[in-house]
Amino acid sequence: MDTTSQLILAPLADRVDFDGWRTLARQFAAQEVPPERIVWQVGGEAADLFAVPLQAAATTPAGFSVPKPFISLAQSVICHRDPERFALLYTLLLRLKHQPRALEDATDPLIHRLEGMAKTVRRDIHKMRAFVRFRQVDGDADGRYIAWFEPEHHIVRANAGFFVRRFANMTWSILTPEMTIHWDGAVLQEGPGATVSDAPEGDPVEAQWKAYYASTFNPARLKIGAMLKEMPRKYWKNMPETALVSGLIAGAQARETKMIDTQIRKPDSPASQWDDLRASAAHCERCTLYKCASQTVFGEGPLDARIMLVGEQPGDQEDLTGRPFVGPAGKVLDEALAAAGLDRASLYVTNAVKHFKFNLRGKRRIHDKPNAGEIDVCRWWVDQERAIVSPQIIVALGATAARSVLGRTTTISKVRGQAIPLSTSGEAWVTVHPSYLLRIEDAVLAAEERQRFVEDLQTIRARLDQL
Ligand code: URA
Repeated sequence: MDTTSQLILAPLADRVDFDGWRTLARQFAAQEVPPERIVWQVGGEAADLFAVPLQAAATTPAGFSVPKPFISLAQSVICHRDPERFALLYTLLLRLKHQPRALEDATDPLIHRLEGMAKTVRRDIHKMRAFVRFRQVDGDADGRYIAWFEPEHHIVRANAGFFVRRFANMTWSILTPEMTIHWDGAVLQEGPGATVSDAPEGDPVEAQWKAYYASTFNPARLKIGAMLKEMPRKYWKNMPETALVSGLIAGAQARETKMIDTQIRKPDSPASQWDDLRASAAHCERCTLYKCASQTVFGEGPLDARIMLVGEQPGDQEDLTGRPFVGPAGKVLDEALAAAGLDRASLYVTNAVKHFKFNLRGKRRIHDKPNAGEIDVCRWWVDQERAIVSPQIIVALGATAARSVLGRTTTISKVRGQAIPLSTSGEAWVTVHPSYLLRIEDAVLAAEERQRFVEDLQTIRARLDQL
């Protein structure tokens, strides 16, 4: 063991050099170097004059393994802007060497602090995904897009993969004060930081965004406080749709007043439980689907709804707007509900899987069916939505929803048109998914199937009257 009090230099390639940190931290931990002797130095920063490199140990110390959650915690914390992050993580690593279960004590101040840092980083990553807006470069024949963004933490590299997957077929750059990333359709490159004046302003893409945002803006869901929290003012200047916000807010004032009257949040009320649940789901990484999707699409509707509709997963438009059933399948659903005399506004509408799963075909994102594992891990959210809303009837639209609601694979034709008692409370009904109706090419068959779907919904409506 190194017993001197000499400071030891720990050089890292850059601010988010996780691999470099891990290699050095393991060496230090193997030699039991106390955290206070290590000077973590990020590439290019002034070195501590009195610090020296670590001496090789006389004998090779035995390695040790750390629990997996530590690795993902450390990968997030490395992106935090707090200069102490390397030392804090090393302190925890050293502790884990002697107490492998130390991470389980969430009340421990060090673990609490690191978990908080990781959470802040995850939120910043989410904000970048939600608020980056590309603008087309004027006169660029190749149709290049540039976005300006100011993250709070060092998250650009950690987020690059998301933008590559999401905008694989575009040529784009994301400029930030700390670094830039550039994608040419094949290779991702990093460059030095930029200034806001390097990014273009205004373009045709903005007009599309504005029209899109205005058409999907739902005044009934407007919560200015929450909006400011989710969409901090610092990002507004980069987002074309924010130019519309004040007008939209003004138009929504009357409905907002009514909403405040009817929805005063008590700490343990269903409304506040639901708010918390939705906020946690926004950062869901329970399976890998979050990596390509734009955002979590959570359920919506009155929390005292007597009927809950469960769909499969968000589609392209749901993924962009963050709301379930707003695309073509949603239109079919809305028409059928209206024909069956059910008011969509009185229903809670959600999906079995909360992230859009797709394959890229050219520039188009083509729906890909979620697998059993994805459905089963996402039940974590659906079950909690069910517990909060406690509907008398849950309608599973299609096989994916049926698996989520009933917890087993089910053949729709065998259970269609009948009440299935649930072990929780209420009963389930299974019918087809609206997308199935969209896929039927034969016009006569399509009309018949639509009618059957409406009849299923009518039966459910009649059943509700008996409950
Ligand atoms: N299909 C679904 O199952 N859910 C949606 O939200 C949209 C399409």
